[in-house]
Amino acid sequence: MFKRVLCLLLFIMIIATGCGRKKDEPKDLLDTIKARGKVIVGVKNDTKPFGFLDKDGNLIGYDIDIAKKIAYLIFGDENQIEFVPVTPSNRIMKLNSGQVDMLVATMSVTSQRLQLFDFSTTYHIAGQAIMVRKGSPISSLKELNKKKVIIVYGSTSEKNLRLAVPDAIIIGYKTYPEAYRALKAGKAEAIVADDTILLRFAIDDPSVVLLSKRYSMEHYAVAFRKGKKSERLLDKVNFMIESMVRSGEISRMQEEWGIK
Ligand code: GLU
Repeated sequence: MFKRVLCLLLFIMIIATGCGRKKDEPKDLLDTIKARGKVIVGVKNDTKPFGFLDKDGNLIGYDIDIAKKIAYLIFGDENQIEFVPVTPSNRIMKLNSGQVDMLVATMSVTSQRLQLFDFSTTYHIAGQAIMVRKGSPISSLKELNKKKVIIVYGSTSEKNLRLAVPDAIIIGYKTYPEAYRALKAGKAEAIVADDTILLRFAIDDPSVVLLSKRYSMEHYAVAFRKGKKSERLLDKVNFMIESMVRSGEISRMQEEWGIK
């Protein structure tokens, strides 16, 4: 008898807690976005050619195009999207706090970041490189030992540089344009950052030079909050990227934005 009552009580508890959880449980990410009618994406607005403003103030770039493809995937309309500008140092907070649904923001997959986020399939591969002023004697990472070197806070190059050249004197900035201006102004000997980001400064300005050696492989991917709620959308985005790779569309986009 006692056993039966215990079983009954347990059964009631399981039903009650199960039902309660279901009711309070927020919808999964894809449902939330659909109900809202737009996807909110964290992107760069100062990082050419990934996310930047054209002369009319429109946000354009390779990452922007990827984000629009995701809006199209969800709604069949690439305009059902809101862009939220992020920097390397605030993007993690913006994603974790729910201000954005995802990041399409030159963000590399790293083992440390994989503990915090779920990442899509890679949609671009960059490599870390050194940019110097024209005529600089610097030709390798080792030569930056005890020299002033610029990085952007929150970027993978900040961490890599601290490991590879522990005696470099690191000077940090929040954005790539600020880092570039500081190099031009002679505040340091070099910038270490992703080649495809630095390349645009070197193309537009012959007084700075991008050195040829690469020091890492940076796999850019779309970052989501970790967990089950992101799973359905993540699967869809992966399928989309994989199809774009197979069809050659990703290659064409990379050519269009000069990052191939
Ligand atoms: N891809 C690198 C990173 O995720 C550098 C680019 C950036 O700072 O956004 O940190």
